[in-house]
Amino acid sequence: MNADLEHLITLQAQDLEIRRLRQQLGEGPLQVKVAEEKRAQDEAALQAAEKGLAREEALRRSQELEVKERQGKAARLRKQMETATSAAQISALEHEIGFCEQSIARLEDEELASLERTEGFERARGQATLALEVDTATLAAIRVRVADLTARNAAAIACIEAERSATRALLAGSPGGEAHLSAYDRIAKSKGTGLSEAIDHKCSACQMMVRPQRWNDLTDRDPHSEHAQTIFTCETCGRMLYYDPRRDAPVRWAAGERLSAASNP
Ligand SMILES: [Zn+2]
Repeated sequence: MNADLEHLITLQAQDLEIRRLRQQLGEGPLQVKVAEEKRAQDEAALQAAEKGLAREEALRRSQELEVKERQGKAARLRKQMETATSAAQISALEHEIGFCEQSIARLEDEELASLERTEGFERARGQATLALEVDTATLAAIRVRVADLTARNAAAIACIEAERSATRALLAGSPGGEAHLSAYDRIAKSKGTGLSEAIDHKCSACQMMVRPQRWNDLTDRDPHSEHAQTIFTCETCGRMLYYDPRRDAPVRWAAGERLSAASNP
């Protein structure tokens, strides 16, 4: 395999890992924000429930006062009945007493309705209190996890960037390496990756077939053959193709192992 291609494989692995770590870094603050919003919703729900409870209590206090007032008035009217003389007077008093009793019945119904609303607000307060407790703990845990991940990823990125600079320096120092490096950078910039592994007669990045002659040249393992040092590109997507002969070996590779083995023969 072309030595530049081997360095490019390493470089791509480093670039992809840095990209993955950076993406994870960006997700951390978002996770914190989502957890903060959830907790703020619990707080708002708790506040709304407490406000509702206070409102209903105040309402019932005024209803009770009004009931007492009407009861007092009805008692006074009954007293007046004892001394009433004319039928018209009695009828007017009866009418007023009836009106007082109706008002009292209506106020008592309203009080019952208020008690029912209070039960609802108490349930909501209980749920919101519990949710607030859980989501406060979750937020704290997410903050710790994100801070930890941020520190670890920042350190890992710094480390891989140093290795990446070394890989790029190796490429820049090899004859023809500058051209390969700039081709890699150009394709990676537009396609996301500059290299693609050819697997089973296909470019694994764009899934298009590699022509049989090119496949033969690509997979030719003779180090003295005409194409041993050629870097082929995919005719469809333009990525530089590499072939890993270990694909044919009767060995099972763990994720990432094949690539590191290919780049450090
Ligand atoms: Zn392709």
